[in-house]
Amino acid sequence: MRVLLVEDDQPIADSLRRGLVRYGYEVTWVRTGAEALAAEPADMVLLDLGLPDVDGLDVCRELRARGDVPIIVISARADEVDRVVGLEIGADDYVSKPFGVREVIARMRAVLRRVRPAVTTRPAEQDSLPGGRLVIDRRARRVHVDGAELALSPKEYDLLAYLADAPGAALTREQIMEAVWDAHWFGPTKTLDVHIGALRRKLGDAAVVETVRGVGFRLVTGG
Ligand code: CA
Repeated sequence: MRVLLVEDDQPIADSLRRGLVRYGYEVTWVRTGAEALAAEPADMVLLDLGLPDVDGLDVCRELRARGDVPIIVISARADEVDRVVGLEIGADDYVSKPFGVREVIARMRAVLRRVRPAVTTRPAEQDSLPGGRLVIDRRARRVHVDGAELALSPKEYDLLAYLADAPGAALTREQIMEAVWDAHWFGPTKTLDVHIGALRRKLGDAAVVETVRGVGFRLVTGG
């Protein structure tokens, strides 16, 4: 997935870009509103409001006028008015500085979950993962292996879709519980293990959910 990061503050941009790349996102970084509007279309825009050339809100308005790319505003302006205006002119969410990379990624995933079912501009909203045997159709919430549909429970589907957002990345148990079960989870994660076990059986050798000792899990495809 390609992310357009519009941010003139280098340290913030550097740390955000490193974090996003670690999670498997492809990042195009620009520093100005003019560059943002000239950039290749992306799958997601992270937009700072305090830009050196134009107001980020104008960039947001222009991007929204062009299409339905998800936009998350990132800003030092804690002002409630900016937040409301940003959302009114088409931003999908808002993150205030300072923020952690994990918070931004959680927001991105939440926004994508909300907007993906409505996205109809792309011919096929499908993940064909490296290796090609496993195909996830996020609009229909269906999964095929070698052309045959897998019978997954809703939670098994959510779990697989979440792991497949970042193939190869190690995701912590806490991240997975929070994203898939919508809960902050501090206790034992037996539920997660049960679902991982079921998913492994159903996937066979089309994709492997590896255990990352002391951390969590990662989805490995291909080969
Ligand atoms: Ca700025």
